[in-house]
Amino acid sequence: MIPWKKGLRRATESVAGWLFPRGACCLCCGDPRRAGEEDCLCDECREKLKEWRVPAGACNRCLSPVTPGKPCAFCASRMMKPIEAVFSPYRFGGETRALIHALKFDACGEAAPLLAGAMADALARRDFDCIVPVPLHPARLRQRGFNQSLLLGQELSARTGVPVRELLRRDRYRAPQSRLPMKRRADNVRGAFSCMGDPAGKRILLLDDVRTTGSTACACAQALLDAGAESVCLCTCAVVYRKARRGQGLSH
Ligand SMILES: [Zn+2]
Ligand SMILES: [Zn+2]
Repeated sequence: MIPWKKGLRRATESVAGWLFPRGACCLCCGDPRRAGEEDCLCDECREKLKEWRVPAGACNRCLSPVTPGKPCAFCASRMMKPIEAVFSPYRFGGETRALIHALKFDACGEAAPLLAGAMADALARRDFDCIVPVPLHPARLRQRGFNQSLLLGQELSARTGVPVRELLRRDRYRAPQSRLPMKRRADNVRGAFSCMGDPAGKRILLLDDVRTTGSTACACAQALLDAGAESVCLCTCAVVYRKARRGQGLSH
C-alpha cells in the first residue's frame, strides 16, 4: 500500500474507533448493540444468522445440497477427492458474508472467535492430530497483514485443544480465486502449495474461511497427502451454494 494511503487509513480508523468503539456496533449491520449483549451481533442479525446454517439434508460428506434419494453430484464428480469430509456451520451469504468480510478486511478481532465457536460445534467431536491453515502467498500476507485462516485456526485450537501447525506454503500467486470464473479456479491453484513440515501419518484438519469450488482446499490436501498425511478433512466458516446450469439443481 502507498504510504500516504496507509496513513489516511490509520487516521480514518482511529476517528471511527473513537466515534464507534469496538464492540459497540453489530458486526453484520453496523447498528448499535444493546449494552451487555454477550456477542458482537444485534438481536436481529443473530436471528438471521441461524437461517444461514447448512441444512440438515445436505450431503454428509461435502455439505452440498442433495435431492433426497439421489447420490450427491458433487461427490460423484470426484472434485473433492483428496478431502475425506467437509465441516462447516454456515452457507455463504447475507450475515455470514458480512462476518467473513469483517474477518478478512477489517482485521476485526471479534469475528474470528464468533465464527470459530460455530466451526467447533460443526466438527461434531471428530479427532484430528493438527489444524493446518490454508496459507496466503507471502506477497498477499504483506498486503493484508495477517492470514485470516491462521486466526481462525488459533481460535479453533483454543476450543478443541488440537494444535495448529503451519505446514503449507503457497509458492505461486496468480489471480485471487474470487476474481476467476469457476472453471479456471482449479488450474489457478493446481501445484500452488507445497508442504514444509512432516505430516506423515497425521489426520489433518485443513482450515479456510470459505469453500467455493473446493479447488484451493483440494490443492492443499493433495500437497499434504503427497507428503504422507493419513487423511485430510476441511473445515470452513461457510460453503457456497450456487445454482448450477442445465437443470442439475444446486452444486458447487
Ligand atoms: Zn445487526
Ligand atoms: Zn457430497
